[in-house]
Amino acid sequence: MGLGDRHQKKDVEAALRRAEASGLKVTHDKNRHRWGWVICCPCKESVTVYSTPRSAGGAAHRVDAFIRHHRNCA
Ligand SMILES: [Zn+2]
Repeated sequence: MGLGDRHQKKDVEAALRRAEASGLKVTHDKNRHRWGWVICCPCKESVTVYSTPRSAGGAAHRVDAFIRHHRNCA
């Protein structure tokens, strides 16, 4: 991710950085409501990240759960 690709919610941004550190791919979309995706390349699964989640903590938790399920896929 480039510097312009940070998520505005710091809890979500931190989770996205953990995802990258775990070897998952983080892609930023320019869609207004959808920030982007966290993708597990080996198994092709992904989780959608929204730009303005109702709960930043909940969104971060979803990303962390995805990391736990996929960090051993590669
Ligand atoms: Zn996976």
